Amino acid sequence: MNSKSSYEIDETIYQRFEEKNNMIYRRLWDKSLPTYGQMFFTNIQKHIDSKKEGYSRIDFNLVKSGWTVYEKFPFAFAWRRKDHYTGDYGRKWTKSQFKVENLDDFTKLVKKTVSFYGASLVGFADIDERWIYKTGFIRPENKSEEDSKGKVRDGVQSVSILEQSINLPKGINKAIVMAIEMDKDAISTAPAQPAAAASALAYSKMAFTIACVGEFIRNLGYRAVQCGNDTALSIPLAIDAGLGALGRLGLLITPEFGPRVRICKVFTDLPLRSDSPNLEFIRKVEDFCKDCYKCAEACETEAITKDKEPKFKSESISNNSGVKKYYVNAEKCFEFWIENSSDCGACIAVCPFSKIINYLTPNEFWKLD
Ligand code: SF4
Ligand code: SF4
Repeated sequence: MNSKSSYEIDETIYQRFEEKNNMIYRRLWDKSLPTYGQMFFTNIQKHIDSKKEGYSRIDFNLVKSGWTVYEKFPFAFAWRRKDHYTGDYGRKWTKSQFKVENLDDFTKLVKKTVSFYGASLVGFADIDERWIYKTGFIRPENKSEEDSKGKVRDGVQSVSILEQSINLPKGINKAIVMAIEMDKDAISTAPAQPAAAASALAYSKMAFTIACVGEFIRNLGYRAVQCGNDTALSIPLAIDAGLGALGRLGLLITPEFGPRVRICKVFTDLPLRSDSPNLEFIRKVEDFCKDCYKCAEACETEAITKDKEPKFKSESISNNSGVKKYYVNAEKCFEFWIENSSDCGACIAVCPFSKIINYLTPNEFWKLD
């Protein structure tokens, strides 16, 4: 066990992840996949026409519109600010670097701030280089997700744009890791569309939160790199920051919300006291997952392993081998996403750590009081 990261790592195998191997990108270049060239829109009209509960035009609209802030807010994932607005509040007073007198008090204050801006959970970690992508997509400055990745997602732009070296600016040494809770009732309907809408909304909330956190840091005279799923692996960073543990379903499990969260992060040089991994909870999840197969049983494509013990080796390039864990079959999972016309979340809904007691049908979800 590596005391720093709380993972067992085989350093002879482990390599930093290449973002182009993420399934969302692989479907653009990997012709061996049955999902090559496909995306969620492939089957949407078929679902709407089927009149199946939870797959109506209204349901799909709830998902698509839930992504709005994530997709259309250009500043959300900036690595620095382009223009410093000089209006109502001026800016002179924000130019010098804020002097931190007491590191522990300041750390608490920053945690309070991050929660205030919308994070359901927050923790701080020293940056472990192994979690930073080796290569990936670098977003053009101040371009929205929709504008910057549209051509890549449509497959119009060459895959080489996904293979740029990822290097954080020198001196950036801390990660502020945030989890955003996904709506319990909506997730309980998974894999129907209200569950995908809960995920979409959490992504938009993360865009809002990291933009405010990034500016708060810059206005104290420090640097901030705002990230969603890009730039680095979010789960090990979250574990290092004390937010939870990795479960059989391949997602972060938190003590508060189980896997019913989305993760985002801001890298910074702000002075902060790092948190420690929650080793007690990590042991608890490790033990629990060995005898609980609920997520694997709920998965329609058998993407989640039923092996009792975790392993070091993945069969898929969408997971980087070398870490002892349960490897999810990302290809099978994504096949279901395409069939379902959105992400799924059935594994999240059934996990006991998600603490869902009342499971709703999509019609019950929509029922007005
Ligand atoms: S999201 Fe759905 S398809 Fe993917 S692993 Fe979970 S249950 Fe299976
Ligand atoms: S459903 Fe059970 S096996 Fe799967 S991640 Fe949750 S606790 Fe672990």
